[in-house]
Parts: sequence; structure tokens; C-alpha cells
Amino acid sequence: MPEIKEVAKNVYLLKVQVPINVDSVNLYLIDGEVPTLIDAGTNTPNVIEAVHEGMKQVGIKRLEQVLVTHWHVDHAGAAASFAKEGAQIFVGSRDYLEWFSFIQGHAFGKLKDWATQEWGVPKNEISGMIKVFEYFRMLSALPDEVSLIEPGQSIMAGDNFLRAFLTAGHTAGHMSFYNEQDRLLFSGDMLLPDEIPYPGIWQEGNQVVSGLPSYLDSLAVIEALQAQTYFPAHGAPQENSVKRCQEIREQLHHQVEKHQPAESVYLSASNFGNQKIHPGVLFLKLHYVYGWEQLKKRAG
Ligand SMILES: [Zn+2]
Repeated sequence: MPEIKEVAKNVYLLKVQVPINVDSVNLYLIDGEVPTLIDAGTNTPNVIEAVHEGMKQVGIKRLEQVLVTHWHVDHAGAAASFAKEGAQIFVGSRDYLEWFSFIQGHAFGKLKDWATQEWGVPKNEISGMIKVFEYFRMLSALPDEVSLIEPGQSIMAGDNFLRAFLTAGHTAGHMSFYNEQDRLLFSGDMLLPDEIPYPGIWQEGNQVVSGLPSYLDSLAVIEALQAQTYFPAHGAPQENSVKRCQEIREQLHHQVEKHQPAESVYLSASNFGNQKIHPGVLFLKLHYVYGWEQLKKRAG
């Protein structure tokens, strides 16, 4: 039996286990006129069964739609499976491009280039990260058809409208969904109670950028909503969105301040004791360090 809990009127938290290095992912089922799932989990049988079981318990016969906060495999992976059952899949337009590029394999070449040119990662370490990527790719599938979300768009979910806010940072097109009437925020990986999501890396015009500067801008957007409750994609729902935004901002400024750049991002990121770090861990550290360095540069 999956763990399911009503966390607001007609909103049910479904915690699912995923075969990657996170404890679990939160999916949210919203009952009402338009039965909705927020985030889909990995494309694995246990997740799909958990959603079906959750629907049964809540009394949802057919899933009308899935709103995807961002394209990462633990959030968008199973969307295609629900699409096959008739659900409409909503995803931010920028994230759809990244998702496409990942499934099709284009993103792997880009990662290699960035790891070499931006971060100075040696070749043998890159192949370890690519292996992690290959494994992740098996946990996701692209739906035949998606509806692209534009920032500011309102989407009926359950019996209420959710407004989509572009909250770039962790990914370039990450979306957060806000029920303005009840002041409930579905924050995806944008706002998490127990961690700061790693900043993404992407191309903006001719430039490669860290998502961290955008993340700080998004934090201001989220804070200004003054949500009563936020429903994160990992961890438990929380009531202190404003305080959490401030905390994260302070922590980030502190991290940037104390960071001493080495000759390359790679040397900074791998300089944690003598042990060889797991490629998945190295991957995360590279993103954080790269973000800190870009913020430092921006501050001058
Ligand atoms: Zn996540």
C-alpha cells in the first residue's frame, strides 16, 4: 500500500520510492472536477501502481492531467505512461526542450562539452557521469504529445485554478503552481524544506550559465506570494515559505562568501578529502561550485 495522506482539502500527498539517490518523491493527487496529478515520478512499475492505488483510495476514476514541475526523471519520468492512459501532460516549454534533448541523447554531448570547457573535468571522470546519465535516461520517457505551459498561465486542477510561475534555477524551465484562493504552493524542487536544490547549467544565447542567479530571482518571486502552505517534491509540506526563502538566501550568500575558487571548478568540487567521489556526487558538487563562482563574479 502506498503512503497516502490528505494534506489539504482534496489534495493528497503520495510518497513514492524511486530507484535514484533520493529518499522518495512527493506526488500530489488533486480530486475534483479536473482530477490532477502533480509530478509523475520515475517510469517504473512501483510508481505507476502507487498512483493507481492512490487514485482508487481517493475515488478518482480517470486522471485528466499531469502537471510536471520540471523534466528530471523523478518528476517527469512516468508522464508518458499516464498520457497513454488518457491524461494530458503539462510541462514548461523550456523544460520540454531539455527533456527532449535528454531522451534523444543530445544533452549528453553538451554535458561533455561543459564538463570539459567550463569545469575542467578530466575525461575518465566524465565517462562516470555519463553512465549515471544513461541509467537515468531509462527511467524516463517522452509523451507523444504535451501541452506547453506559459508563465502566468492558469490551469484548472481539481476545483481550483493553479497559476503557473516560472521558477528557473534547478532547471531552466522549472514551474511552480499556486492556488491563489487557498494560498497553496506546489513548489516542486524550487522550494524544499531540507535542502537547497542544485543549480542547473544551461545555454543562454552564446553563453553557458549556472542556474544559481536565476534561482535567487525565483526565490524572490516565491517569497512574495506569501503562501500559507507549500507542498515540496521532497520532504514534508510546510507552513513557513517566507522564512524558508530567507533561510536559503542567507545560506547561499554564506556559501558564496566562504568559497575559495581553485584553478578549476573541478578542482574545487573534488577537493573534499582524498577519497574518490562517486560520479553522481561529483556531478552535484560541480553544479554548486559553478553556481557560487558565477555569483561571485556577478557580485564583482
Ligand atoms: Zn527532485
